Amino acid sequence: MNMFSTPHQGSFQQLEKLGQGTYATVYKGRNRQTNEFVALKEIHLDCEEGAPSTAIREISLMKGLTHENILSLQDVVNVEDKLVLVFEYMDKDLRSYMDAQGHPLDIMTIKSFTHQLLRGIYFCHDNGIMHRDLKPQNLLIDQNRCLKLADFGLARAFGIPISTFSNEVVTLWYRAPDVLLGSNTYNTNIDIWSVGCIMAEMLTGRPLFAGTTNEDQLQEIFDVLGTPTELTWPGVSQLPQYRTNFPLYTPQNLQHIMPSLDPLGADLLGCMLQLNPELRISAADALQHSCCYSRTPLTRQLWP
Ligand code: ADP
Ligand code: MG
Repeated sequence: MNMFSTPHQGSFQQLEKLGQGTYATVYKGRNRQTNEFVALKEIHLDCEEGAPSTAIREISLMKGLTHENILSLQDVVNVEDKLVLVFEYMDKDLRSYMDAQGHPLDIMTIKSFTHQLLRGIYFCHDNGIMHRDLKPQNLLIDQNRCLKLADFGLARAFGIPISTFSNEVVTLWYRAPDVLLGSNTYNTNIDIWSVGCIMAEMLTGRPLFAGTTNEDQLQEIFDVLGTPTELTWPGVSQLPQYRTNFPLYTPQNLQHIMPSLDPLGADLLGCMLQLNPELRISAADALQHSCCYSRTPLTRQLWP
């Protein structure tokens, strides 16, 4: 696949709009040659600036990622003033999947989605990429309930300067406390925090921490997990956004908040929702957790 293949506007028939994201509009499409459905992510180009850096980054990262839990980028087409990323078509995103259910998902589905999410994330991390914007809208589900990570617009390869992170619009709800506190040494486990938030949301049907501002988001988190101290998180008081007047909350029992969760699931969730990033579980270790451990392929039932 070339970075910008020759214009072949007629190759895809554009159908209905699937979603509107942070920097693009996504349409359902049909490949006229194969008749296959695709998703066309259209990025409008500013004539002066050309392709936005988010799009370039997304393209170059995704080209190298082939995994059953990562949405595959099939082609990139440059048509007039638009850059079109052609992806495999998925049924819906996790947000609309949850909304369509109308009630919390059943525990089997939650564990399967969590496991698939962790597999996708492990693959990214193993390839030197952090996703950084994991949220239900960026996780896609197909008719076989395969889950795939999408939207690598904010993803970065490790080692690229992180200073512009705060300039980009990202929802706060899935953002790790170390990032909220202004840490500039955060690492791949910020994605694991998001996985924990998403798992909890599938269990209750509501976002776990739905803060409105940076400070409010931190309070929401501390209210459930307890306010961190130098004892529980050495160095926390040195972080730029740390306030000495944070209310002192004591940690709540996660199983009380999520009664449908079994002890193994609660243990895994607790490992992912560690405030102190040093103590937060890695994707590799999470996949080894007994809650996730399985010898069977994904399409089979994983948990007895
Ligand atoms: P943005 O980077 O602008 O947020 P996304 O890649 O997240 O764009 O796409 C926006 C929305 O479009 C998603 O939340 C989802 O609802 C829908 N969407 C994106 N890709 C697909 C796809 N391959 N199949 C079906 N729907 C998709
Ligand atoms: Mg998105």
